[in-house]
Amino acid sequence: MKRGLKKLTPKELSKLNIIVNGKVVRSFYSDDGDVMASPSPTYKQMKSFANKHKIIYALDGTIVKRMPLGGRELYLFREHHGISTKMSEAIREEAMMLNDSIKKKVFDRDGKKCAVCGSTEKLCIDHIFPVSRGGFTQMDNLQILCEKCNIQKSNMAMEEFHLWRINHGKTD
Ligand SMILES: [Zn+2]
Repeated sequence: MKRGLKKLTPKELSKLNIIVNGKVVRSFYSDDGDVMASPSPTYKQMKSFANKHKIIYALDGTIVKRMPLGGRELYLFREHHGISTKMSEAIREEAMMLNDSIKKKVFDRDGKKCAVCGSTEKLCIDHIFPVSRGGFTQMDNLQILCEKCNIQKSNMAMEEFHLWRINHGKTD
């Protein structure tokens, strides 16, 4: 049986990485470029987003005509247009594949320092392309970062993180 992100279809996988105006879309976005970056927005969040924007697109690119009323209807609506339970599960499983044996392999390959700032303290293994956006737990997508760089990088891809660092005056 397939585990992790491998059990998603290419369409589901591509949904995890929709970007509008430099922002990662987690659920819905508007024609004027606003992004609702929550995979499971509450009814209140959805309603306020719907009130603010004339045209709203769902993750799958369809135009959202009407926000649901709540409860089960809201759940099904998210499942249909946003990140489904299957997709969240796949992300969780993929993240959990980062076990001690893989971590050791990455340390053996890369040495014991942060790939960005060179620090040798509080090191952890980072997914170069984030799992939450469709990045796999495999050797060529893993690197060593210190805790500080890892927190700053959050769910950015490396190119985005390098840009972020330049914009924030980080040169170390
Ligand atoms: Zn670092």
